[in-house]
Amino acid sequence: MGHVESGSGSTARRRDAAVWAAVRQGIVTADRPVAGLLDVPGIRAAAAALHRAFAQVSAPGTDVLHAFAVKAAPLVPVLRLLAEEGLGAEVASPGELALARAAGVPPARTVLDSPAKTPAELREALALGVAVNADSREELTRLDALLPDSDTASLPPLGLRVNPQVGGGSISALSTATPTSKFGVPLRDEGAREWLVRAYAERPWLTRIHAHVGSQGCPLELMAAGIRAVYELAEEVNEHVGARRVRSVDIGGGLPVNFASDDVTPTHATYARLLAEAVPGLFDGRYGLVTEFGRSLLAKSGMVLARVEYAKSAGGRRIAVTHAGAQVAVRTVFAPEAWPLRVAVYDAWGRPKEGAPESQDVAGPCCFAGDLIATGRSLPRLEAGDHVALLDTGAYYFSNHFAYNTLPRPGVYGYAEHQRTEGAETAPSVRFVPVRPPQSLDELVAESGGAHAVGLTALR
Ligand SMILES: *Cc1c(COP(=O)(O)O)cnc(C)c1O
Repeated sequence: MGHVESGSGSTARRRDAAVWAAVRQGIVTADRPVAGLLDVPGIRAAAAALHRAFAQVSAPGTDVLHAFAVKAAPLVPVLRLLAEEGLGAEVASPGELALARAAGVPPARTVLDSPAKTPAELREALALGVAVNADSREELTRLDALLPDSDTASLPPLGLRVNPQVGGGSISALSTATPTSKFGVPLRDEGAREWLVRAYAERPWLTRIHAHVGSQGCPLELMAAGIRAVYELAEEVNEHVGARRVRSVDIGGGLPVNFASDDVTPTHATYARLLAEAVPGLFDGRYGLVTEFGRSLLAKSGMVLARVEYAKSAGGRRIAVTHAGAQVAVRTVFAPEAWPLRVAVYDAWGRPKEGAPESQDVAGPCCFAGDLIATGRSLPRLEAGDHVALLDTGAYYFSNHFAYNTLPRPGVYGYAEHQRTEGAETAPSVRFVPVRPPQSLDELVAESGGAHAVGLTALR
């Protein structure tokens, strides 16, 4: 990957304007040397494009719930923004459910997944009216015990996650539909299909089927094959029961993101069209639809902006030591082949940095040798006081902090450009609003047992 050309194209122009404003307005300073930035109009546009994509391929009146996968950006103001744009929330822990509730996402627009739900979590979801997708036969048995025999009409949609076992993509840690995946009830194991049909037939309240085939690294055709397999199972169940037992299909998320350029590819529209071709019956109005996209909604609208603290060289290798490392880019640091990131470079004032590209490493602040964002990357020479922007990091990066070296969670800010009028002149300017303040030293101490400082000394 070459160095990112700043200033070409409208996405790059808006990004450059945001970086310049962030430096000038003190969002990133010598004392607060790293922040996460979110492009709010970009997020709104992605949400609108998702709605259009599925509306275009669905029969009029089809009930579609787009539930944003909270783990991709567990930030209350982001969930609130998406709720305003008509999205719900997919949660997979009590913490994620609490965030969705704090954001005002209604229970009826919330879906609880997770392979490890406790009885208390299941009870809470049922009491609130949050939809639940059971992950296993064992969890279904737990639900049996929790549900009253009568009055199934007042229950939220309850579903079962099925692993269509269609195979994995290029990143094994993110491939969820392999034959031995830890997720869902395997569809192709011996006797599984018959068991599944019976499980639905015996439970009038089991009305949803769920699959989340894959994620970054999975080809769209593989994802579509997985959805087709669970759709066929839904048809078989309904045929067998002689009624519409399965009423909705939750197709999960997992649309991959292009990390190599500003192009949004594949789009939600491309995926929706491909699904409509592969599984036309899913869109003819007989089934409600749920989606659970995360990365594809947020990645392109976020960046990490960090100062270069030192520029040094060792054994002929040039290294820029920055404040963005494993704490904000854990996947890139630990699996650099699978998660390469573009790095855009700016000078001390936040202007795009010019100059002949040189091979450099971009390192983070953590105290282990592998804390590198990029190695041998061709970039204009970085110097102390410059800035680096890690692009496409709106999902799973600064919002999914790794607490190494007791580095604080950085502040996160949303921004939008607006026209500012001064006298007769109008000029674009960038306005920032806080999403999350940077973590303070007091908070770090408290989270690290500060209140129990003498606790261990009492034991012998
Ligand atoms: C992680 C996850 C998602 C979101 O995946 P993306 O790749 O971010 O779209 C959706 N559903 C489930 C069950 C997940 O585990």
